[in-house]
Amino acid sequence: MLQSKLFAKTRREDPKDEVAKNAKLLIRAGFIHKESAGVYAFLPLGLKTLNKICQIIREEMNTLGAQEVQLTALQAPELWQKTDRWSDDKVDNWFKTELKSGGELGLGFTHEEPFAAIMSENVSSYKDLPLAVYQIQTKFRNELRAKSGIIRGREFLMKDLYSFHTNEKDLDEYHLKVRQAYENIFQRLGIADRTFFTFASGGVFSEFSYEFQTLAEAGEDLIYVDQEQKIAVNKEVYTTEVLAKQNLDKTKLKECQSIEVGNIFKLGTRFSEALGLDFVTESGERQPVVMGSYGLGPSRLMGVLAEILSDDKGLIWPLAVAPMALHLISLDQDEVALRLLTDLESAGIEALFDDRAVSAGEKFADADLLGLPYRVVVSAKNLATNQLEIKNRQSGAVEFIPVLELVAWAEKNLRP
Ligand code: ATP
Ligand code: MG
Repeated sequence: MLQSKLFAKTRREDPKDEVAKNAKLLIRAGFIHKESAGVYAFLPLGLKTLNKICQIIREEMNTLGAQEVQLTALQAPELWQKTDRWSDDKVDNWFKTELKSGGELGLGFTHEEPFAAIMSENVSSYKDLPLAVYQIQTKFRNELRAKSGIIRGREFLMKDLYSFHTNEKDLDEYHLKVRQAYENIFQRLGIADRTFFTFASGGVFSEFSYEFQTLAEAGEDLIYVDQEQKIAVNKEVYTTEVLAKQNLDKTKLKECQSIEVGNIFKLGTRFSEALGLDFVTESGERQPVVMGSYGLGPSRLMGVLAEILSDDKGLIWPLAVAPMALHLISLDQDEVALRLLTDLESAGIEALFDDRAVSAGEKFADADLLGLPYRVVVSAKNLATNQLEIKNRQSGAVEFIPVLELVAWAEKNLRP
């Protein structure tokens, strides 16, 4: 891809109306565009990264055997009235609108109700269970504070998975599988070492809800971390009883700021009872289906990566989710660089070639800002010995390779 053709331009100055680091950096790098507070458009490079995050999540959900669907954002009141989640005093973050033809619709902030309703038309016997479905879909929330960039959007992407079971034991076993799938996702995104399985309040059916919290200075949550056991307790449930129950030694816990990137709720029969989702057991009894829900925020994860993997020069994307892996920069060697770009692209390797008529200093500064994993410099000096310089954005390590080996080098080093 030619950088001159990229319509989204980089900026030297921080946007004046942003306080969050992720928003400042992503806007400066031309990854996102701010529509209004908490409302962001994803531009070409930003969308590539967001899609890669979604794809990793999708692969892990599919491996779990969950089926992908897409529900509607527009929601009619009736279902939500049945679970008592329509009125504004019960849920304070609905976006609602009146219909010209009369009545009201709201923009979904979560989807337990419509999923339970769909399943009530499809599940009738124990033979239909267990079952898991998910979507990666836009949610809307009238968040009071929207100052954290894409970490807290009023419109944002959520992966929401729902599981349906004949009994609680089956739900308990399944939630451990989802937990493992989440660990895999955090591993692939490069944040596993600072993401903690966390006991939190807000359980509807069980004593706790479970969160996945990523350590970050900008985090709004406070958690108490046990590094050895790799688990944490959210401040909101941090009591002597909880610590004792989880075998946590208070003196070993460290207080840290963190961002919730995902969660698990054991919903039990709260939604299935309200919405008539039941099944007939092997012995012919009718029983409500036992449900679990599992959230994850792809756009929030992108914000978290921007927040914690960046430095004072700009973004630093892990290979797995970088818009592309290579940033080609030529110092008056555009013809050679263009040929290298063609070779890479014919081998199916995406690269960004900075063909703009700007100074070398500007190109290097922008390469640091965009944060692609490897910067490849084509210069007369290196070409004199048939070499290219490759610099790792994260470690700063520099290596030299023969010009003709770039494609082979990429094939070897860029497979995530
Ligand atoms: P928080 O406590 O941070 O407000 P939540 O408990 O409301 O989050 P859920 O409603 O369970 O979260 O949503 C599931 C996931 O969706 C969260 O773990 C997070 O990754 C993501 N998410 C929630 N709210 C937002 C938002 N406003 N902007 C971006 N991502 C969000
Ligand atoms: Mg929460």
